[in-house]
Amino acid sequence: MGYRCVVLIKQVPDTKKVTGKTMNDDGTVNRAALPAIFNPEDLNALELALRVRAQYGGTVTVITMGPPGACEALRDALCRGADRAILVTDRRGAGSDTLATSHILSCAVKHQGQYDLVVCGRQAIDGDTAQVGPQCAEKLGIPQVTYVEADVQLNNRTIRARRNLGNGWELLEGPLPVLLTVTGEANTPRPQAARRTMKYKRARSPIEIEREVAEAMPDASDEDKLKAAVKRCDELKAAGLLIDQFNLDDIGADFDWVGLRGSPTWVNRVQTIVLTGSGYKKVESTEAAITAMVHELIEDHTIG
Ligand SMILES: Cc1cc2nc3c(=O)[nH]c(=O)nc-3n(C[C@H](O)[C@H](O)[C@H](O)COP(=O)(O)OP(=O)(O)OC[C@H]3O[C@@H](n4cnc5c(N)ncnc54)[C@H](O)[C@@H]3O)c2cc1C
Repeated sequence: MGYRCVVLIKQVPDTKKVTGKTMNDDGTVNRAALPAIFNPEDLNALELALRVRAQYGGTVTVITMGPPGACEALRDALCRGADRAILVTDRRGAGSDTLATSHILSCAVKHQGQYDLVVCGRQAIDGDTAQVGPQCAEKLGIPQVTYVEADVQLNNRTIRARRNLGNGWELLEGPLPVLLTVTGEANTPRPQAARRTMKYKRARSPIEIEREVAEAMPDASDEDKLKAAVKRCDELKAAGLLIDQFNLDDIGADFDWVGLRGSPTWVNRVQTIVLTGSGYKKVESTEAAITAMVHELIEDHTIG
């Protein structure tokens, strides 16, 4: 039967390719100024899951929560080897902080079916909190291993995983199901496979199909557009190219726990900090001079 892996992937703005004005005047991110990419460590999470499937059998399902444009990351994952892709999209989820995001994602994981491993990247390069993985584990009520830095070993219902401690590593063993967060050092993500790319570049979610139909038939009635969209969805489903799409009702989310209402974190202000050098101070390499320097750094709160 193998192991059923669910990988949480996020589409993020490419913070390395900044063009134009990246922040809006209200402090929100100007996403139009930044190309969207697959969050780098989520590629490592996907690779880990694909290796589990290759070694032990099973399935790999990818889930993303985001706007319809996030389907690009889902298609990418299908081209690299994922078996199933799920888009969770709903305007009522807008403004969700990490706690609300974790509520939505954990509902989606439960809703998609049974699972043995939930695999996340360690951290997203835009939000940068590294909170979503651990919060999902808590909400799913399963153990977690964070900072996984190598392939995992599985035996019956037990996992053995090596986690990075910064100055060393530890080997953990525990029962399934489990949630892992994976670092960029864990593996080298495989590229898209050419044959899969030819197939899955045509994969679409229902919301993308609705938009394509509306563009192709601008003068048609709503009824005709709906009929055309349903027909297209059926064709794609038959060809294994329909990206599953859930809204918050489908996954049974609690509306007190989503969107701005369910988000206890508020972004007060976003500030760009430019670090500049301001001269240097020479310290003699004597015990006394170094002790004086350390005291000075503690006093001005540079270290504490
Ligand atoms: C008050 C507030 C309002 C916000 N409003 C918005 C908003 O309107 N729109 C918006 O886009 N963001 C918004 N955000 C940011 C949003 O909360 C975070 O992007 C999101 O919770 C993920 O946090 P992170 O980026 O720190 O991910 P991390 O915790 O660093 O991510 C760790 C891992 O979790 C998984 N993961 C994280 N997010 C997702 C996802 N969406 N889908 C699948 N897997 C995921 C990935 O595997 C990822 O590698 C808001 C944040 C706050 C605090």
